[in-house]
Amino acid sequence: MKKIIKKIFSPLKALLSLFYPSLCVGCGDALMQNEKFLCVDCLLNLPKTNYHRHDAADNPAVDRFAGKIPVQQAVSYLYYSKEGLGQKVVAAIKYHGDTALGAWMGGYLARELAASAFFAGVDFIIPVPLHPQKLKKRGYNQAEIVARGISEVAHIPLETQNLYRERANTTQTKKSSFERWQNTLGIFNVHDPQLFENKCVILFDDVLTTGATLEACAHALLQCKNIRLRILTLAVTA
Ligand SMILES: [Zn+2]
Repeated sequence: MKKIIKKIFSPLKALLSLFYPSLCVGCGDALMQNEKFLCVDCLLNLPKTNYHRHDAADNPAVDRFAGKIPVQQAVSYLYYSKEGLGQKVVAAIKYHGDTALGAWMGGYLARELAASAFFAGVDFIIPVPLHPQKLKKRGYNQAEIVARGISEVAHIPLETQNLYRERANTTQTKKSSFERWQNTLGIFNVHDPQLFENKCVILFDDVLTTGATLEACAHALLQCKNIRLRILTLAVTA
């Protein structure tokens, strides 16, 4: 049945795209046939941080966790600013259901990071889990979608079962950073600490703001003996 529907709709889709071409996530212009998700201009103008070229000792993403949790390295791929390209990409993945963009973006950044030592010796990539209720509402975990794209290109196993969210945190947006931090303490846990014992893991989230959520995940992960932690996010607020 699926095949028949596909047979009918694929040419229809191709025909429709002549009249309703796909639009660039960044600028809204119609995409050319060889472009996908972002036009060449937007792709060239992605606001990259290049943090993966920094040593851990001189890296603004690592600094956000200084004195809080021990991280080997931290990388955020894009700057996230109001109305900026980074924000548009994140919003399309998180709020507009563009999961294909998420997977593609994960692969895209992984190809660039592969040239650095960031992926070297990593055993698992772990996306920050969504609360089951939120997952049900959204239908997908945006962090997991991007992490899956990274996992496929970097050939690092994705692990989504061990780290879990024990409770939902109330909305973060109007809270001070201290309140956010309090709000997220103890909301994550791991089912089997032995699975991550002596392992090097990348903890992945879509956006790094105060780092409170990642920090809360890290606290749960640090129960695992001799775990080594790297942090990766698609974007970072200024
Ligand atoms: Zn564009």
